[in-house]
Amino acid sequence: MEKLCKTRDVAERDGDGWVDCQCGSKHWGRFGAAGLLLIQNGRVLLQHRAPWVHNGDTWGIPGGARDSHEDGFSAALREASEEIGIATESISAHFSHLEDHGDWSYETIVVIHRGADFEFEPNQETQDIRWFPIDEIESVELHPSFARSWPEISARILEISDEDVSGNL
Ligand SMILES: [Zn+2]
Repeated sequence: MEKLCKTRDVAERDGDGWVDCQCGSKHWGRFGAAGLLLIQNGRVLLQHRAPWVHNGDTWGIPGGARDSHEDGFSAALREASEEIGIATESISAHFSHLEDHGDWSYETIVVIHRGADFEFEPNQETQDIRWFPIDEIESVELHPSFARSWPEISARILEISDEDVSGNL
């Protein structure tokens, strides 16, 4: 019941709940979940999750349960703005990575943030937020499911042009 403390003010929030997945794990998000992987100047934004949330005390990306009416992109943006206060006008989406378990899925939306650094406004699920150089991510204590998908995601990040990944336009 990790999300009890979160204020729900929109009626259509119907995604919260656990799924008993065929992979043998329990996952959060009745319709799956999504997260936002933000890149700026060759760095990736990671969120240190509070110890009391599922798989807490690890580094991951902001994200959470998808609602039935949302696609992964909208869910990831909504969660990221709730959890870290990101402003959405200065990002551009590059690709999404789907971890599909059949009963449940997690979509990682990879976006590039341009322009000035934004002010973080972490909520209570967020202990810390930090930019990590892309090549240092592997040495960070990652959320287990993010750790599993990172090799594939990082390989695709390398396919994005250097100018996009490293540039600060
Ligand atoms: Zn699963």
